Amino acid sequence: MPIRQHKYLLDESEMPTSWYNIVPDLPAPPPPPLHPGTHEPVGPDDLAPLFPMDLILQEVSTERYIPIPDEVQDVYRLWRPSPLFRAHRLEQALGTPARIYYKYEGVSPAGSHKPNTAVPQVYYNAKAGVKKLTTETGAGQWGTALAFACSLFDVECEVWQVGASYDAKPYRRTVIETFGGTVHRSPSQLTSAGRAFAADHPGSLGIAISEAVEKAAGAADTKYALGSVLNHVLLHQTVIGEEALLQLAKAGETGADLVIGCTGGGSNFGGLAFPFLREKLAGRQNPVIRAVEPASCPSLTRGEYRYDFGDTAGFTPLMKMHTLGHDFVPDPIHAGGLRYHGMAPLISHIYELGLMEALSIEQTECFAAAVRFARTEGIVPAPEPTHALAATMREALACKESGEEKVIVTALCGHGLLDLGAYDAYLNDRMVDSGLSDADLDAALSTIPVLT
Ligand SMILES: *Cc1c(COP(=O)(O)O)cnc(C)c1O
Repeated sequence: MPIRQHKYLLDESEMPTSWYNIVPDLPAPPPPPLHPGTHEPVGPDDLAPLFPMDLILQEVSTERYIPIPDEVQDVYRLWRPSPLFRAHRLEQALGTPARIYYKYEGVSPAGSHKPNTAVPQVYYNAKAGVKKLTTETGAGQWGTALAFACSLFDVECEVWQVGASYDAKPYRRTVIETFGGTVHRSPSQLTSAGRAFAADHPGSLGIAISEAVEKAAGAADTKYALGSVLNHVLLHQTVIGEEALLQLAKAGETGADLVIGCTGGGSNFGGLAFPFLREKLAGRQNPVIRAVEPASCPSLTRGEYRYDFGDTAGFTPLMKMHTLGHDFVPDPIHAGGLRYHGMAPLISHIYELGLMEALSIEQTECFAAAVRFARTEGIVPAPEPTHALAATMREALACKESGEEKVIVTALCGHGLLDLGAYDAYLNDRMVDSGLSDADLDAALSTIPVLT
């Protein structure tokens, strides 16, 4: 058989040395976050109790490129550059003329893209003398990534894990503890935000964020770290797309026709898509950019574009984003990382500008795609990117009908080896689709604050 190349690899010396900030390239700037009390735009000082100044400046930066500190690059090189794979066997199984590439972030220490931002966040906090970081985690990926990064820079790490995930994914807690972190089931008795709920409540990301923020705001040497949603988080993730552009060129492609990623808060999607969007806005490529969300938590496709809180208790600034309402508690689907009520303000803004599209998919279709992927490409995907894989397969099958040889690039943002309960449910016919009824949606949307 002919020799065919499966992996496109970069040398460590080819790793990007800057993060890409898409804000200055957009036709209009994103609306600013507002103070929860005054409804005036927040200034750096408002954010200082929670974040170190280096990260606040990145959050509001209008520089196109921000250099990656040497200390961060040195940690990145433990697993970066990550591989870009051509999915030859999946293409064959689908009988598609499309060429499918996937950028695999499961090679990181946490098994996902999250360390790309955990490492710089902890680095800047440590540089500012911070002794402890608090955070929330859903499926456990973000808590794992932050605990890993904290272990390298000698910072303490305290994690509130969404109750339903804490109960279902005990091994995630063990990984976090192995890296030296502490884990609490959320809602916990340790905060007033947590005590507002019954101890056996399944929890939500919104509640866990409130708990972590409350703890950080109350202690001078403690700050808070968020694993998605904010501009600086998406900024750090752009190493994914910058590498993928170089790797696609190595594969002999002149560009992508379609870029697909799953969206929880939007960070792995933005990380892959923003460098491609830069190329699109500059007229060098013309990819369609497509976000995929779960049918039970459809913030982009069914949420409203309004100012809302990032957390349930209303401690965070108001952010203009696509939201289902800050106290929306989605069904406990297996993709825990996609169960967030809102979407990154930057992604929401880009969606409103018409520069990308979005769709939602039910979880059984996603797991069917994941099993097909595992049986051809050999990787068991995390539950979250199964959404991107399902959309990729839909498109590949459409190409089979039309005969189009589209170049599809997707983010395989993590492996699922600690999410096997989800596969067990799927393989034994215990997985159900939940959707979201119009009545439940309306009730959730009615909780979004009305600004006067
Ligand atoms: C956290 C997580 C997500 C969801 O977060 P985004 O910010 O939307 O990327 C998706 N996939 C994996 C593997 C995750 O760990």
